[in-house]
Amino acid sequence: MKNSSNDIGFEIFGADVFNDAVMRERLPNPIYKKLKKTIQEGLPLEQEVAEVVACVMKDWAIEKGATHYSHWFQPMTGITAEKHDSFLFTTEDGRAITEFSSKQLIKGEQDASAFPSGGLRATFEARGYTAWDCTSPAFVKDRTLYIPTAFCSYTGEALDLKTPLLRSMDAINRQALRILRLFGDTATKRVIPTVGAEQEYFLIDKKYYMQRKDLIYTGRTLFGSRPPKGQELEDHYYGNLKTRVAKFMRELDKELWRLGIPAKTEHNEVAPAQHELAPVFETANIATDHNQLTMEIMKKVADKMGLACILHEKPFAGVNGSGKHNNWSLRTDDGRNLLKPGKTPENNAQFLIFFMAVIKAVDEYADLLRFSVASAGNDHRLGGHEAPPAIISVFIGDELADIIEQIETGVARNNGCSRELGIGVSTLPVLRKDLTDRNRTSPFAFTGNKFEFRSVGSSQSIATPNFIINTIVAEALCQIADRLEKASDFTAEVNKLFKELIKKHKRIIFNGNNYSEEWVEEAERRGLKNLKTTVDAIQALIDEKNIKLFEKHGILNSAEIHSRYEIQLENYVKTIRIEASTMVEMINRQILPASIRYMKEVADTVNSLNVANVDSSGVKGDLDKLVMLTKSLRNKTDELSHKIQQLDENNSEILARAIFCKDAIVPLMEELRSYADRLECSVDASFWPIPTYTDLMFGLI
Ligand code: ADP
Ligand code: MG
Repeated sequence: MKNSSNDIGFEIFGADVFNDAVMRERLPNPIYKKLKKTIQEGLPLEQEVAEVVACVMKDWAIEKGATHYSHWFQPMTGITAEKHDSFLFTTEDGRAITEFSSKQLIKGEQDASAFPSGGLRATFEARGYTAWDCTSPAFVKDRTLYIPTAFCSYTGEALDLKTPLLRSMDAINRQALRILRLFGDTATKRVIPTVGAEQEYFLIDKKYYMQRKDLIYTGRTLFGSRPPKGQELEDHYYGNLKTRVAKFMRELDKELWRLGIPAKTEHNEVAPAQHELAPVFETANIATDHNQLTMEIMKKVADKMGLACILHEKPFAGVNGSGKHNNWSLRTDDGRNLLKPGKTPENNAQFLIFFMAVIKAVDEYADLLRFSVASAGNDHRLGGHEAPPAIISVFIGDELADIIEQIETGVARNNGCSRELGIGVSTLPVLRKDLTDRNRTSPFAFTGNKFEFRSVGSSQSIATPNFIINTIVAEALCQIADRLEKASDFTAEVNKLFKELIKKHKRIIFNGNNYSEEWVEEAERRGLKNLKTTVDAIQALIDEKNIKLFEKHGILNSAEIHSRYEIQLENYVKTIRIEASTMVEMINRQILPASIRYMKEVADTVNSLNVANVDSSGVKGDLDKLVMLTKSLRNKTDELSHKIQQLDENNSEILARAIFCKDAIVPLMEELRSYADRLECSVDASFWPIPTYTDLMFGLI
């Protein structure tokens, strides 16, 4: 089927993917069945199966033009890594043949010392290996067969973002199955978390991007006074696409579809030059791989088309930042969504258990959820006036709020008259199928059949937020199952449990405006945490109770957790340091010299005027202002250089260095910026050395 408006046809979907259809067609039937079972039920892969798969996969990839293969993984840098090996194998008589064995498919050796490993590097061998994640399909891109893998040290410690995600998927499967069995479901074999990550981004003209060192080095603008027009007219959201943007989206869809990435909706976002791509949801680990690929391909396609794609959480001060709405739900292997309210009261009791498990999980581990989205970039966004606040709460909508209240009080309200609500499994109220009320301000919202975690940063991997959600919900389900499995009267125990859960965890439910000042105060009264920065939020990771949680469900051990803690703080310090030095460089080599050149021009004008005119023209005042701003900017820049030096000479532990960045460097950078931005408004535009916000946000034609 061809799309009439252009020549992209849906037949290209998955054309470069070693997907189920390809496997069914090319693998011998018994092998295909065994591999399928492995994938669906999470069983270990048999050697004999792997051998055949490797051979067939190689032939398929070579037909697609591949000459190399690569174990593709996600180290803790947050971006993907790959090492390419060719299929080439030389024979003794000097010929070249191709080779790719099950060993090469399943396991690859990597030099782990090149990647961040936190404390693990000191204690364990520097070698690491990548292991095939056969639940995420291999694909061909740029003449290379990419094999999605997990990355571990030789002693088995996770060195990547994918391993804990895969482990958490097993954990939530185990616990969710226990609940299903309690409701008499013996057929379901596996429960799978599903994820749809809506990706926000900015597109700007590459020619302006190339002139901004801050965008090149840090991904965001460190300077820039607000343009006269921002997003106040709200004329960009869902607005008409500019021709170049529309072309970009078409090209992007084409590339993504070839790789089997189900890009579905593309539209303009609230801020000028901001856009969004929403995919159809998939199994959590595949959605994670696909989101990494989406980000990579967005950048490549933009570059090819003379554009720059900006994925930073807050590229421009004063306009909306970018996030990634992480839609999450649970699905059974036969395709039932466990967070979809059912048609019968019995189904609703099961739905409410899963629903309340999420509420309980978010309340008990709000600190971990906040940690899962912590980064230097997201610090600028969370708590701003357009993004969810740093305070974690859940939006559930009026109808569910009402049902929960009825359960808690035990009084059912029906057609205006109250009657006693037995809250037995069979007497729970029937929920409407479509619960559509929305609250765009909530960080964690129930949207009818899934939860939407909106605090996730636009540039981060969704592996971390999802392994956290899976783990904390697994724990809540585990506690619920422990209790219900022991109950002699199941219905009575469910009744009691609902009431208790609601009483205990309703403080995390908030259906009002999360951006308001009142909510900050109200949340404090409720005892909810407001962890404003990465440095505050990351402490949750090494909290005793959280380490116990990760160990209990086999997600991460204490050494792995501490290594992650170190790496994340390291990343924070490095990011701030790069930003601060970029600022110093741009001021000293671009902004100050330009201001001084313009100052000379004004000074020459002052000198050329006679005394009487100087006073009446006001030019002297302009010069004084320029002198004052330039002087302050220079002083503050020297101060910032000094602070960077102090940071470099500071040998204390990583936490102290991170705190120094947060308290001494970040606020100084803000101050410095305010002088530079005021200068921008006082200096003749033709002297200003870098593209302005107007160029960047409105300059794409
Ligand atoms: P909107 O939020 O604009 O109403 P949708 O409800 O269609 O849009 O979906 C938003 C995102 O949520 C999409 O990426 C979609 O694939 C994803 N989504 C929908 N259902 C689920 C689900 N059961 N599990 C995970 N993600 C889902
Ligand atoms: Mg959404």
